[in-house]
Amino acid sequence: MSYKQTFFWSVDNFLNKDQHSECIREAAMWITKGEVVAFPTETVYGLGANALDETAVKKIFEAKGRPSDNPLIVHIASVSQLDQLVTAIPSVAKQLMDQFWPGPLTIILNKKESVAKSVTAGLDTVAIRIPDHPIAIELLKLADVPVAAPSANLSGKPSPTSGKHVYHDLKGRIVGILDGGQTGVGLESTVLDCSKEIPVLYRPGGVTIEEIEAVIGKIKVDPSLKSKDEVPLSPGMKYTHYAPDGTFVLVRDQKQIPVLLAKAKAEGKRTGVLTTKENVDTYEADVIVSCGSRADLASVANQLYESLRTFDEKKAEIIFSETFPYENLGIAIMNRLEKAAGGSIF
Ligand code: AMP
Ligand code: MG
Repeated sequence: MSYKQTFFWSVDNFLNKDQHSECIREAAMWITKGEVVAFPTETVYGLGANALDETAVKKIFEAKGRPSDNPLIVHIASVSQLDQLVTAIPSVAKQLMDQFWPGPLTIILNKKESVAKSVTAGLDTVAIRIPDHPIAIELLKLADVPVAAPSANLSGKPSPTSGKHVYHDLKGRIVGILDGGQTGVGLESTVLDCSKEIPVLYRPGGVTIEEIEAVIGKIKVDPSLKSKDEVPLSPGMKYTHYAPDGTFVLVRDQKQIPVLLAKAKAEGKRTGVLTTKENVDTYEADVIVSCGSRADLASVANQLYESLRTFDEKKAEIIFSETFPYENLGIAIMNRLEKAAGGSIF
């Protein structure tokens, strides 16, 4: 499906409250009509459609070019909507909702029939969260339906952290974009399967393992997050993601980066480095991008996808990236970088 025009509703600080609501009302109206609109959340921008409408949900897969076996996360405005979606809420799930919702934790539970089949890619479970963003919440309330929404990027590309990124990827492919500026967390939500006896982590994200275990005790972690030889338990985690156009190489020993850069230069390649504030002056490359400070991993998460997109804008052909410690938010950051590198680790 293609659209002559993609609306760009700017919900920024220059508008008063009534003008804000007018934009959001229009976007909500399109969702109730079975169309797809992009909207900001605290993690990344989402691409939303009515989760109870099979035809509407299929338009999301088409717009993104997303493989149909990759299930979507359903966004709701309040826990009272869970009744429409799931058969039961185990007590661990309830505890996590109380602690982390609204927020970047997606909880998987056994689903009801009413959820459109393509939302869950045919699985018996459904992934759900309440986003922590005023525009998303107002949109969800006005649309008054659960909204299935993956990240609003073309499949395989870095997730969008601004309305501008969404427009770049999806103009002409969806009816409209609610622009609310830059997102906060900058990485997708943590995905936790609470339909199992002991919850299983499928995707590290904005809420850390340490934070979850402080509330419900020990959880399991999908073995594929630790070993490349395991097949991921969550269908979406098997795909390469977040990749810039150029070759992206993770370099564990930072001192090797100048050596690798020199070699690539000698081969006539346009080079790039993904670094941090602390090390930005140590490299010579065509494109040097600093994504926040190592001392503050939240700043790295916030700027990571914007940084990866910069290499495309500046046409880097080979990019060498520093790595981060596997703890707290570093686990989610490394997960995205490893996917971007598609196994290319030096
Ligand atoms: P995205 O919408 O791009 O943020 O990706 C959603 C992630 O949640 C993907 O990695 C999916 O595989 C995962 N997911 C969604 N629903 C389920 C489910 N029912 N079971 C397992 N994983 C799921
Ligand atoms: Mg995504």
